[in-house]
Amino acid sequence: MIPSLQRPLLIASGNPHKHDEIFRELILEEGTLLRPADLESKLATAPPDPIEDGETLLENALIKASAFSRWSSLPALADDTGLMVDALDGAPGVYAARWAGENATYQDNVTRLLKELGGVPEDQRGAEFRCVLALCDADQVILTVEEKCPGFIIEEPRGEGGFGYDPVFVPLGETLTFAEMTADQKNAISHRGLAVRRFAQLFRELTATGDSC
Ligand code: IMP
Repeated sequence: MIPSLQRPLLIASGNPHKHDEIFRELILEEGTLLRPADLESKLATAPPDPIEDGETLLENALIKASAFSRWSSLPALADDTGLMVDALDGAPGVYAARWAGENATYQDNVTRLLKELGGVPEDQRGAEFRCVLALCDADQVILTVEEKCPGFIIEEPRGEGGFGYDPVFVPLGETLTFAEMTADQKNAISHRGLAVRRFAQLFRELTATGDSC
């Protein structure tokens, strides 16, 4: 069963930065893309906070999408993103959110990253963001996409925009960090921007031909 836009889609995340980046790229009809906060007052329970104990980005995206879909009874779109750093054998990878500890802030994670890369020369500081998007209707997987953004980790944070590791990540071929770019500049080349545009294309194809759900 494939979703038509007879029911809105819910973004399966409490992260306002992700909401903004997804809303910028996923242009659907008015009222057909919802944030959890749009439903909170209408539902008896608070939005879920599922344990992301998958070993891959895809597993974690599916955990989040199905938890939010079951909560809302709507198809839910989750994003799981990892940062794979070459010199650290792919760490923090899937564990990017809690790399410096269970309640780590973005700043804590950046500090740990720069510490681990201390002394690593510029030409060995390659890294890659990977973003998986998954759309689920309850436990049914409707659509998944994965996109990447290669780049490198600089030695000192720069810029005030974005979130997470953005102040230390410079995409390949660029000179600015993601945090120094405007939201539109970041979205044009980022893992999430690419993934959302690919998702939108596939979703339109599905909904043009599919049944409703
Ligand atoms: P998750 O997908 O919410 O598990 O994200 C994992 C962690 O990766 C987040 O806590 C952020 O620190 C980081 N992250 C995710 N997306 C981005 C991004 O677009 N830029 C920088 N850091 C990000």
